[in-house]
Amino acid sequence: MNTHGARIAIVGGGLSGLYAAYRLEQEGCGDYVLLEARDTLGGRILSTGGVDLGPTWFWPELQPGLDRLVHALGLERFAQHEEGDMMGERSRSEPPFRMRGYVNSPASMRLAGGMAALTDALRAGVDASRIITGQAVRRLRRHAAHVELDCVDAGAGLTTRQAAHVLLAAPPRLLAGGIAFEPALPDALARQWHATPTWMAPHAKYLAVYGRPFWREQGLSGAARSAVGPFPGYLAGAIDAVDRGLRKLSLKSPTPAASAR
Ligand SMILES: Cc1cc2nc3c(=O)[nH]c(=O)nc-3n(C[C@H](O)[C@H](O)[C@H](O)COP(=O)(O)OP(=O)(O)OC[C@H]3O[C@@H](n4cnc5c(N)ncnc54)[C@H](O)[C@@H]3O)c2cc1C
Repeated sequence: MNTHGARIAIVGGGLSGLYAAYRLEQEGCGDYVLLEARDTLGGRILSTGGVDLGPTWFWPELQPGLDRLVHALGLERFAQHEEGDMMGERSRSEPPFRMRGYVNSPASMRLAGGMAALTDALRAGVDASRIITGQAVRRLRRHAAHVELDCVDAGAGLTTRQAAHVLLAAPPRLLAGGIAFEPALPDALARQWHATPTWMAPHAKYLAVYGRPFWREQGLSGAARSAVGPFPGYLAGAIDAVDRGLRKLSLKSPTPAASAR
């Protein structure tokens, strides 16, 4: 099949979608297409100058699947510097205060070059001709033996593609709000997707880069927080969900059943 018709269509080119493409190629299934709405890949992963505006940390002991992937891709990692006191802020009316820092256990790890090293490496491991950016999937229509996908580009041009399977690799709320499903999603599932928050969607992150970590000379770790602890499991959640989804497909079977979920 050409890219207008593929056995598997992956919707979304963030970590989940790129990992799905990487795994399909590992399984010898090159008959897929990855459709990404934006002009760029990576989704919520965004690194600039080696530092992260999107996700920053991972926890190998808690996220063994992600850890194995980082190893397999040969990516360099380092531990987040955490030794020293930290600064806290209770309210705008009180000055920031110094308090005892804490060291996360297990340690929070980062990737050299930023988290985009992960998506760049996955992308390098897949067939570039199978990845199509600037294609927002707007409608999924299920037929007896395939699913039809209506995709719109930036100029509102419509392309209709076909796939035996569709692997949705984007936040549920975005999918429920941005794609028309025919037949419609079951009510309970649609409600669940609408109600599933997208991790960090309401947050903004900014970066300030200093020439040297002068705060360490004062015994400060560099951490300044009002919220507590890391929240493990999100990058890893993307990896684990794709693995679960791919296990449901019999990749060796030449006539897969249609599935849009
Ligand atoms: C600021 C921030 C900090 C974070 N920090 C951490 C952290 O430190 N550790 C951690 O583990 N996790 C963290 N996360 C969470 C982590 O980034 C995500 O869990 C992970 O990147 C999700 O990847 P994904 O591919 O599933 O989804 P996304 O990255 O959201 O990718 C989905 C892709 O699908 C595309 N898309 C959506 N709808 C359509 C459509 N209709 N058609 C075509 N394409 C579509 C989108 O454009 C996007 O590229 C953080 C997130 C943010 C935003």
